[in-house]
Amino acid sequence: MKVLFAVSECVPFIKSGGLADVAGSLPKELKKLGADVRVILPKYGMIPEKYRSEMKKMKEYTVQVGWRSQFCGIETLEYEGVTFYFVDNEYYFKRDSLYGHYDDGERFSFFNRAVLDFIAEVEFYPDVIHCHDWHTGMIPFLLRTEYYKKPGYGLIRSVFTIHNLQFQGIFPREILGNLLHIDSRYFNEEQLEFFGNANFMKAALISADHITTVSPTYKDEIQTAYYGEKLDGILRKRREDLSGILNGIDHDLYDPKTYAGLAISFSPESYELRVENKLEIQRFFGLPESSEIPVAAMITRLTKQKGLDLVTGVFHEIMATGIQLVVLGTGDPEFEQFFRDMSEKYPEQCKAYIGFDENLAHQIYAGADIFLMPSQFEPCGLSQMIAMRYGAVPVVRETGGLNDTVQPYNEFNDEGNGFTFKNFNAHDMLFTIEKAISLFHQEERWERLARNAMETDYSWAQSAKQYNELYSDLISRSESHVF
Ligand code: ADP
Repeated sequence: MKVLFAVSECVPFIKSGGLADVAGSLPKELKKLGADVRVILPKYGMIPEKYRSEMKKMKEYTVQVGWRSQFCGIETLEYEGVTFYFVDNEYYFKRDSLYGHYDDGERFSFFNRAVLDFIAEVEFYPDVIHCHDWHTGMIPFLLRTEYYKKPGYGLIRSVFTIHNLQFQGIFPREILGNLLHIDSRYFNEEQLEFFGNANFMKAALISADHITTVSPTYKDEIQTAYYGEKLDGILRKRREDLSGILNGIDHDLYDPKTYAGLAISFSPESYELRVENKLEIQRFFGLPESSEIPVAAMITRLTKQKGLDLVTGVFHEIMATGIQLVVLGTGDPEFEQFFRDMSEKYPEQCKAYIGFDENLAHQIYAGADIFLMPSQFEPCGLSQMIAMRYGAVPVVRETGGLNDTVQPYNEFNDEGNGFTFKNFNAHDMLFTIEKAISLFHQEERWERLARNAMETDYSWAQSAKQYNELYSDLISRSESHVF
């Protein structure tokens, strides 16, 4: 079975969030099941030189973007047994950030066509093209309306995974004709129109043979108006072709036994060593060093989605519990400033590192007692799983993948692996943090809970099997999805 992953970011080359983790780890797991999975992504200028220098040029062709023919180079690299292809065009991808440019619509229109053309240029005809998030949303649509006529493309099935429905790739309608050569007859409410604009995500949702999202709970949530981001109607219509498959984490990459950057490595069996990492984190941030004071952490994009409004809403009450809080994140300037201000106001209790730092993230996961993730919505969430693997007990809101991965602690039988609350309400969160703190002071019970968290299996094995079955099922069907 041949599968091509088309994605806009991928670990270890380039990452802005969980999407990159998934693109980096799922192909490895699928390979173990026998699938020939390869990954194609843009060759960003920000990819570290150590990878860029290993890439080999393999092909050059031109891609039509409106009236312009744009250069497209394909470079390749083997990494941990997986073949990666990089789409090279410096005009589009040699920038100092991944997204948020005035011409993102054009950049990813180019990328989508470049991927489809790549198939014939490199003669890698996949059975399934698996697209991820809006950046690849036009691929299933163009495949079904245009490319299927080309030799070798007719039997390719498409899967589209929603990693975050909030980001849809919405651009002025002109992009469809001017950049993508899509006939205007598709610009209607049932197909490509989205409130007068074009929408990459919607294009994929109407045309992909199958849609997946990254947790069973989020799959149900996005079919409701509250979580559906105005696409819930289409998702309800396609519910037969929609499944929720929980993400895993890369157990090799996130392993407190082997990760080299920790003050001390540890495992569930040597949990007592873990405290050294906690003291190291307190030292690093200049907080009072004490194993007795609970340390909570947030490692996150600083956006509303992640429940920052709840945290800022009851911040002084959180500080009144005596807890220490360390924050690693970047995002909305208002939240960045808030945590800078609070670091000054509570120098003994709150410290923020405004930036993106993988190594520091590992160290914080390995040292914090509590991992706070009160998301408003959370398609899957990897951070809580990483936290658990490193023995930081999660406090989360019951939404999306948080609901599917964190089982609330039961004080009667000591079962569970974290703390949860239901409503998006700051005081419910505060109450739950207080519950966690109270258990933290009962050392033995806390240790049992942290061990439970560490021993929960969030590897990819189970989910990769589900993707594999899904691909096989699609390949065995004689018909593509018709829209
Ligand atoms: P999302 O993809 O919505 O941002 P996830 O929880 O699925 O959230 O994945 C976030 C990933 O990015 C995790 O691996 C987390 O550790 C990492 N991460 C987020 N912010 C930072 C940061 N500032 N520095 C280092 N890693 C970060």
